[in-house]
Amino acid sequence: MSRTLDHLLDQNVAWAVGKTRDDPAYFRRMAEQQRPSYLWIGCSDSRVTANDVLGLDPGEVFVHRNIANIVHTSDLNILSVLEFAIEHLEVEHIIVCGHYGCGGVRRALAVERGAMLDHWLQPITMLYRKHRDTFESLASDEMKLDRLCELNIEMQVRRIAATPIVENAWGRGQNLHLHGWIYAIHDGFLRDLGPHLSSTEQRDTLCSIDERVRNPAEPVSALRRQAIDAFAAALPGSLGLDGCGYSECRHDPDNRS
Ligand SMILES: [Zn+2]
Repeated sequence: MSRTLDHLLDQNVAWAVGKTRDDPAYFRRMAEQQRPSYLWIGCSDSRVTANDVLGLDPGEVFVHRNIANIVHTSDLNILSVLEFAIEHLEVEHIIVCGHYGCGGVRRALAVERGAMLDHWLQPITMLYRKHRDTFESLASDEMKLDRLCELNIEMQVRRIAATPIVENAWGRGQNLHLHGWIYAIHDGFLRDLGPHLSSTEQRDTLCSIDERVRNPAEPVSALRRQAIDAFAAALPGSLGLDGCGYSECRHDPDNRS
């Protein structure tokens, strides 16, 4: 096996030349100060790359990734990223995006313990243990894993919302919106899970995470939202879509529909 990575460096040349050929000003633009509107906090999984799944170019999303997209409030790395993104880049949206089948979340369910990773994953393990009966009542191990992947995302959104960095931003009236999304590797679609938080008031009216375990939020892809909206437009007053309208439920902090 080759000890060098010449093939990657060669690919880099091909990529840079191709970019310049398609858009001669591309790198001149990139060299100017970055102005992303989004901060993405995602899993380190090599299949879930923010720019790819969002269809964004370099410069459009600021990224922090770690195993199982966890927010530890003693983690200087993520706190520094949050501070820089909010106070200097002035991003308007923070997206916590996990994914189904997350190996980190799977590890948090394992009996084997003792690695550094298990300390990292402790918040997920504790949530699982506290609600073991609820998780064990699900029909399969995959459903259990998927549900925990979803709940982990909401837990991390709440943790971000509780940081002084975010509280101070909201306190001075900065436009800052938090989102919880989940990505499915098997179909490439993102799903909106919530919660959607834009103020301390919204954060403080959320149901507890324990209540959320018992009444999980429904993940909704844009594909499904578009289908529901199309039905609602075609059949007003039917399917129960007008009274408890989908768009209203979507922005309910509890995200119950
Ligand atoms: Zn993962």
